[in-house]
Amino acid sequence: MVSRVIPVDEFDLVIFGGTGDLARRKILPGLYRRFASGQMPAGARIIGAARSDMDADGYRQMIADAVAEFGGTHDPAVLKDFLAHLDYVAIDAKGTDGWAELGSKVRDGVIHAFYFSVAPSLFGDIAQRLKEHGIAGDASRIVVEKPFGHDLGTAKALNATLAAYFDEGQIYRIDHYLGKETVQNLMAVRFGNMLFEPLWNSNYVDNIQITVAETVGVGGRGSYYDHSGAMRDMVQNHLMQLLCLIAMEPPAKFDPDAVRDEKLKVIRALDPVAPHHVVRGQYAATEGGTGYRDDVENPRSRTESFVALRVGIANWRWAGTPFYLRTGKKLRARTSEIAITFKDAPHSIFGEDAGWNRNVLTIKLQPNEGMTLDVTIKEPGPGGMRLIDVPLDMSFAEALGPDAEDIPDAYERLIMDVIRGNQTLFMRGDEVEAAWAWTDPLIAGWEKRGEVPQPYDAGSSGPEDAMMLMHRDGRKWREIRT
Ligand code: NAD
Repeated sequence: MVSRVIPVDEFDLVIFGGTGDLARRKILPGLYRRFASGQMPAGARIIGAARSDMDADGYRQMIADAVAEFGGTHDPAVLKDFLAHLDYVAIDAKGTDGWAELGSKVRDGVIHAFYFSVAPSLFGDIAQRLKEHGIAGDASRIVVEKPFGHDLGTAKALNATLAAYFDEGQIYRIDHYLGKETVQNLMAVRFGNMLFEPLWNSNYVDNIQITVAETVGVGGRGSYYDHSGAMRDMVQNHLMQLLCLIAMEPPAKFDPDAVRDEKLKVIRALDPVAPHHVVRGQYAATEGGTGYRDDVENPRSRTESFVALRVGIANWRWAGTPFYLRTGKKLRARTSEIAITFKDAPHSIFGEDAGWNRNVLTIKLQPNEGMTLDVTIKEPGPGGMRLIDVPLDMSFAEALGPDAEDIPDAYERLIMDVIRGNQTLFMRGDEVEAAWAWTDPLIAGWEKRGEVPQPYDAGSSGPEDAMMLMHRDGRKWREIRT
């Protein structure tokens, strides 16, 4: 299999917050890989813009170190060529310093993209100055990072701030889950094959589980996380986006607004979640270790580091099929997967003793991207007709061989989409607002009831009640494992 790398047009990409953690860990190493694969044209330029006072050489050294630390294997000669494309401007987002210099560096006649890898409180200041200094024009693109709002009110305010300076067609709201190869493959599998789509509804699907499990705790993000929690940090955006891609109707074409219109319809069809269909947890202290409340330095914290939900979609396709969503920190394994469990065959011709299995389509997002379809076959050998489950396995790494190494990681793919002007894998403003409109009453409900999250052991699958959420429905969660 030969992968094709199609170079993008010449661009100037300005990264506000270019010295920050996200830029050093993800954005610049990702851009290096796109450069190494031949996707960046010779005339591409990347300009870091941040508060630190340093010159372009200092910035190149910082990024060389970042690529070495976070970029995996790299070729020193290629890295040297890549660094020649970098420049730097010390800038004050809230003041006047650096803006004239930035204006002098951004060239006419190439694509302009401005990545806001800074706190959302700076989005308005930067947007305003880009326009005031004539640096951004009608064809410029801006990329904004999560969190996009804390609730519906703040998301609306953020949308309004950006809309004062840029059209919706210029705004790229990143949800890096949408940049994953498997997530796009989900659309290819659904809409590129005849096999699945006829079965993709509540007549044939028993339930759908979406799990995003982490083994790490809140780390250094304690104060941010304690004001956010798993519902805001993960469900409102990442899990919601995955749910939309599974549940949406086939768009008429693979076009940004056609896809996003269908996703929006799913969010608007979500049932309100009943209180007994939500379980929240907090990881407890281990012997000699710290618990959630220690990590966020808030002994009375009621913020959840785990949440599990049973969600219903009120439309013809999905009425009657529950979607179970779960995400949390300090769980048994680091894994993200979507599992679509089909219903039992209506009748077994082999009798009760033969065994009885269900088809499950599993879409794995991490650690190793791929898909598995569990099918029932006869157990080989003598012993009569006994049935077993075997996975038809499609690990991308195995299926694509060496080409798999050049599968772009989510950030690099999404940045190249910005340069190409393709918004399909970015959230539109109304989608984000609709997701908050569904999330807000849920959070308000547990806050009003004064609910305290249940403690759960680090390394477990979450609190006991999360198991009960499934058991009550006569189902069980899939095991959390890599
Ligand atoms: P960071 O604190 O490491 O970096 C912040 C950057 O902003 C620095 O480069 C700093 O110089 C710059 N900055 C701050 N104030 C400025 C000002 N007044 N003028 C000019 N530049 C200024 O933050 P980060 O972790 O890189 O996160 C950046 C954004 O990305 C945040 O919105 C964050 O929520 C989001 N995000 C980060 C991650 C991550 O893994 N770090 C993941 C998802 C989203």
